This record gives sequence, C-alpha cells and structure tokens, in this order.
Amino acid sequence: MSKFIFVVGGVMSGVGKGTATASMGKILQDKGFKVTAIKVDPYINVDAGTMNPVEHGEVFVTDDGDETDQDIGTYERFLDTNICKENYMTTGRVYKSVIERERNLEYGGKCVEVVPHVPEEIINRIKLAAEKADADITMIEVGGTVGEYQNILFLEAARMMHLSNPKDVLFVLVSYLPIPDKIGEMKTKPTQYAARTLNSAGINPDIIVARSSKALDEPRKEKIAVFCSVEKEDIISAPDADTVYEVPMIFKDQDLANRIIQKFELKGKDGNGDKWEKIVNTIKTVKEPVKVGVAGKYFSTGDFVLTDAYISVLEAIKHAAWFHDRKPEIVWMNSEEFEQDKEKIKEINNLDGLIIPGGFGSRGIEGKIDAIQYVRENKVPYLGLCYGMQCAVIEFARNAAGLDGSQTTEIDPECEHPVIHIMDEQREKVTKSDYGGTMRLGAYPCVLHPDSVSRKAYGEKEVSERHRHRYEFNNSYRDILTEKGLMLAGRSPDRTLVEIVEVPGHPFFVASQFHPEFKSRPLSPHPLFRDFIKAAIERK
Ligand code: GLN
Repeated sequence: MSKFIFVVGGVMSGVGKGTATASMGKILQDKGFKVTAIKVDPYINVDAGTMNPVEHGEVFVTDDGDETDQDIGTYERFLDTNICKENYMTTGRVYKSVIERERNLEYGGKCVEVVPHVPEEIINRIKLAAEKADADITMIEVGGTVGEYQNILFLEAARMMHLSNPKDVLFVLVSYLPIPDKIGEMKTKPTQYAARTLNSAGINPDIIVARSSKALDEPRKEKIAVFCSVEKEDIISAPDADTVYEVPMIFKDQDLANRIIQKFELKGKDGNGDKWEKIVNTIKTVKEPVKVGVAGKYFSTGDFVLTDAYISVLEAIKHAAWFHDRKPEIVWMNSEEFEQDKEKIKEINNLDGLIIPGGFGSRGIEGKIDAIQYVRENKVPYLGLCYGMQCAVIEFARNAAGLDGSQTTEIDPECEHPVIHIMDEQREKVTKSDYGGTMRLGAYPCVLHPDSVSRKAYGEKEVSERHRHRYEFNNSYRDILTEKGLMLAGRSPDRTLVEIVEVPGHPFFVASQFHPEFKSRPLSPHPLFRDFIKAAIERK
C-alpha cells in the first residue's frame, strides 16, 4: 500500500509546485523508495492536447500516448522514470468517466452526485496509478491555487483519503512570500491566509514549502509555524535557485526526506544522490557557452515572452550542453520575424546551432523554411523536431530538388508538390473534426539507416521514440528526394513511415518526425541532442 503526499499551491500560480513535487519525490527516491507522481488539473479539457501552448505551456507526451501537462515532463526528468497515462487527470476526464459509468448503470440506480461520487472517482484513479506504478510513495500535485473554486473537488478527495487513512496521507502547501520593493521585508501574511483557506477545506498542511526570492529567516519561520499550526522544522525554505535541479539538494539540506519518512513511520536507506549532486555542480560551474537558436512561434503573450511552450526542448538542450561541460545559451527566435525581415535570417550565423521544434499551422512556417535553407547551405548544425522535420523536407524539395510549390497539405491541400501529406489513418478524423487526443501519439519503433548520423548517435539499430502528429513524409517523393541527396535515416519497421531525414556531408543535419526532447533526462541527455550540441561546439 502506497503512502500519499498531496501538494497544493497557495497565494499564486507559477511558484514552482511542479518542481517542488518532483524534488520531494527525488529525495524520497534517493532514500530507497519507489516514487511516482500524479498531476490533477482543474480544467474541463479532457487532456492538454487541445490547449493553446502560449497560454498553457507545452503539451507533454508520454510513452503510452497521453497528452499531458508539462509537469509530467518535470516528474519524468527528476524521477528518471516513464510516467503512465493513469498519472494524469483533469476535471473533464473525471466527470467523463463518472457520466459514462452512470450511463452503464454502474451506480445501481443511485442518484449520482457531485459529492461523494466525483471525489470517489478521483480517489480510485489516484489509487490505481499508485498501484500500477507499484509505488511506496505517491506524490499528487493539485493544479491551481487553494481558494479557487475549480480545484475544490480534488481537495475534497484529498480530505476524504486523509480521513480514512490519516497515517498514510500528508499535505504540503507550496506558498509564496513576497518581498515588496518599497517595504524590503519578506511578508508572511499571504501564506497565513493560504493556510486558513486550506483549513476551510478541512485540511491542515503538514509541511509548508516557502517559496521566495530569498531564504526564509528564523523569525518568519516561527511566525508561519505558529499561525499555520505547522512544526517549525516542517517549514522549508525554498529560495530562488540557479537551476531547478538544485531544489532537491535545497530540500535535502533541510532534512525534508527524513521528516517525511518519520511522519509516515517508514524506514529509509542512506541516500544515493551523488550523480545528481555532480550534475548540479557542473550546472553551477560551467562557463564556456554554446549558443543554440530555437525558432518557433509560441513565445509572446501580451508584453511578456514565455518559453514554457518549449520546456522539454529547452531542458534537452541544457542536458546535452552540460554533458559537454558547456553553458547553454538559448536564443529564442520568432520565425515570423524572418518573414518580415529577410536580413534577420543572417543572425543565425552568430549561433552555434539551430533547432526548429514542433508546431502547427501556417503562421511563421515560411520563416522556418527560409531559416532551414540558411543552415543547410551555410553548414550550421541543425536539429529539426516534428514540424522542424516536415519543414526540412519542404525546404529540401524546393531548393535542392527543384520542386517549386512543395508544401505540407496541412497548409495548402491543393499545393503542387505535397511532400508532406496527411496520414491515411488521420484523414477521416480531420474531416469529422475529431481532434481531441486523435493524433498519432506516443511511442513507436524506428529502424535506423546503418550509415546515418542518427545510428551513430544512438549506438543502436532500432529505437523507440514519442510522437504527436497527423502529417507525414509523402512516399511518392521518396525516390526523387533521395536521388537529390536526402537520406531517409530512420523509418518505421515496415518501412512505410519516414521517421528521420538527414543531409549527408553536412556537419549535422538531422530532423525527426518524433519528439526526442521528451526522453531527455539530466543524467542521460538524448543522443540526438548530445551529438547536435557536439557539432555546435565544433562549429564554434
Ligand atoms: N503539424 C504537424 C503534424 O501534425 C507537426 C506536429 C508537431 O510538430 N508536433 O504532423
């Protein structure tokens, strides 16, 4: 039977609940426990796949093909495990199954009510995920902030679980302590209110993680302890860190793992976080930069530039750079600007390498294609991810194979040369507007060409990678494009689907239909990112 730790957020969103959850999981894992992590999100969407990445951040894809919140990616990177679809739920998903079960007469004629039936469904799902992962400890991050209307049923489920098994359930409040400029003092009142609000849902936190720009001092620790009824030793200081990967060490230094273990009356082993400490040390000491451009379109919201839409790409670049003892310097490029000002493309020459990540639709695509022409012709290392591979095929067809009018049918179904076209299995779905969770999703095998750069990078003949797409390389153009020098470096085992293209003779030009970024971890950078960064360093 697993123990359960609910992590809820107070004061405001974006304080790093996901990192705190993953970091707690990590230090408990280092104590010898099998840990899994669940994300519950309050919105009605059944999955994260239909949400705008600018507003919601990246859609993370699991091996088993779920489209989840980016926090699942954080858990995978910290815990170094593959998370399953059972570990992700939304209000929409929960309600959907309650309603389906009601329609199937599974409630035996009872009146099906919001309480208790919805929290009961949540509890069942949490227990199922814990069981499937065979976890000793299950972390459950509750999306949103305490006090908002939307996540109340998840808090109710947490309260009910605690009521029936008080010794097996802990609550962590991740709060925020502002230091207003004009006052110059760290303020605890919002945290006190957050704890009170949590109390009104019938929950008292066992641990408070106090996020702030600075470390928490003793007087404030005492104040929070008294006002929130939490032992002083369980108020954990979480100042802004140089890197998120340092957070487990910050927690460990405050003995958090042992505090949790004692509360659960468990017995832990002595820690084995050495490799992690080593990588954090590298992160904090590397100086020599490697400069990578990422050209996409999901950056700006109002006056702010956010990069959350590409978080796994960003992390994968970092992992690979650290592997080579380099400081990753990432330049965000809006591909629409390449369209408005052709001179801007020349800025790519100041980079050591370029990545074009996944994407959809027409906005910015011509800028991406022009940028790819630039890196192909000027021998700048290039890594294309999904749309970045499709754009590479279009660019090669137009400029190296002379196929003017090449395009993806995603943008122009009537184009002259549909070098990228919709997959057979997808056609009907798109016609019927059946969009939710219907792309080609999750892990599929890919067989590598023996002479390819990819084969060398992986050191294996066949690999498994995660996908999220509806369109694919059009095999009618296979002969002409390969004759003109494009290498089909990876294909599905039945050879029908092109998974990787390469341009031989280029320092590094690899583009994949899949998303390698989802499988990169701090201690095991993804082979394609690793060798891309190596080529970038060599260009430097
Ligand atoms: N829009 C493209 C497709 O659906 C690429 C998707 C992606 O980059 N994830 O095939």
